[in-house]
Amino acid sequence: MNLKLSNTISRKKEPFVAQSLTYVTMYVCGITPYSYSHIGHARVYVTFDILHRLLKVLGKKVTYIRNFTDIDDKILDRIPLPHTQIEEKITQFVQPFIADFHSGLQKLNCLPVSHEPRVTQTIPEIIELVEQLIAKKHAYVVGNDVYYDIASFSAYGKLSGHPLENLLAGSRVDVADGKKNPGDFALWKGNSDGLYWSSPWGYGRPGWHIECSAMVGKYAKTLDIHGGGADLMFPHHENECAQSEAGFGYPLASYWMHVEFLLMNKEKMSKSLGNVLLMKDVLEKNKPMAFRFLMLQHGYNKPLSYSDDDLAAAEKAFDRLNDLFWRVESISDIDFMQAVLEQDIPFISQAFAAIEDDLGSAKAIALIFEHISEIKNSPEARKLTKALCEQVLGLKFEEPKEQEISDEIKTLIEQREIARKEKNWVQADQIRAQLVALGYDVKDKKL
Ligand code: AMP
Ligand code: ZN
Repeated sequence: MNLKLSNTISRKKEPFVAQSLTYVTMYVCGITPYSYSHIGHARVYVTFDILHRLLKVLGKKVTYIRNFTDIDDKILDRIPLPHTQIEEKITQFVQPFIADFHSGLQKLNCLPVSHEPRVTQTIPEIIELVEQLIAKKHAYVVGNDVYYDIASFSAYGKLSGHPLENLLAGSRVDVADGKKNPGDFALWKGNSDGLYWSSPWGYGRPGWHIECSAMVGKYAKTLDIHGGGADLMFPHHENECAQSEAGFGYPLASYWMHVEFLLMNKEKMSKSLGNVLLMKDVLEKNKPMAFRFLMLQHGYNKPLSYSDDDLAAAEKAFDRLNDLFWRVESISDIDFMQAVLEQDIPFISQAFAAIEDDLGSAKAIALIFEHISEIKNSPEARKLTKALCEQVLGLKFEEPKEQEISDEIKTLIEQREIARKEKNWVQADQIRAQLVALGYDVKDKKL
């Protein structure tokens, strides 16, 4: 295995070495299900699906955890008062958005993950971790609230590079809410109306960051890989690091990966900016595989400006591959890896190495298109390229509907018709052979 990942915490691309020889644990921060998911979300989860698939092809048993932040002001503010029986009301409210998220990722051919915890199902673990942090003097109680004391954790800032001094008292004029330092953050938010969950500090609800630390503690103890969108690096992931390491006594994760934004007119696609394209709409109007292909054509670690034209071009390129592969027999991942290791077809091994190099799917796709005539002419190359696309890149090939026959095929059919009319049987037979190689039956009508 030659997997290398850009690790935010070291700011370097590093060889990936998991803590166990067999298992890999991975946690990716999930969505806040208060509305339908947009295609910026899709970018993040397609990226980690490629990594998930790659690890599996490399023979690892992957535990992949992805949460739903179902306790958040954006959700609570949308639930009609009174906020009694809040868990049932939250469940009712978030269900359509969770179903929409699952349905979109399924269309994008993302594999299911191992655990999808919700905050409402993790309250006991959250309370336990907050108690540990208080006992270890990394957290303090103010009234019904609990805050993390960032000054108590000397490594604070190690992930994002934010200097601790800038977040301590004295660096800003105002320290609100009885906090010791401006950078201290809420682990538990008391509710003076006596609502929500009961805790040793009275009724209230968890702060945002604590859920991920508690969920990792519950399902994995410590992680090989922790991921999310680029905006989560600070403060969310920095705070997760501080909570977990101080509370559990060991680092939260070995590798931290951040997916850059999907941009719309040079700005981050986000609900608050009102510039979103919903995943469900884009996948209804376009082929889901075209969207996945567009993501694959770009590295995850650079911002990506979305355009409809680029999606249309991605669809054309995907269709060319679909024409080549939909009829080709699939092979097992073991047979595929064997061929890669033995370098049966050098460009396949190079493309696989590109993906192992920090998920360089763009280079892998470029290599495939550079070798398109080899793929057309060699059944072995076709079989292995299909396996690479299917097993690692997560592309799904299907019989094209009649109206979906690509321009390339239509041109070949037209050229053959002309050749037949001109009684140029040699050329007509050559084109027929080309069409058969591309997976088409050719049935002639009388001229
Ligand atoms: P949210 O539901 O907004 O909390 O976002 C869920 C995940 O999607 C987080 O990892 C965010 O960083 C990520 N995300 C949100 N918007 C975008 C975007 N426009 N581009 C890439 N990632 C995003
Ligand atoms: Zn998180």
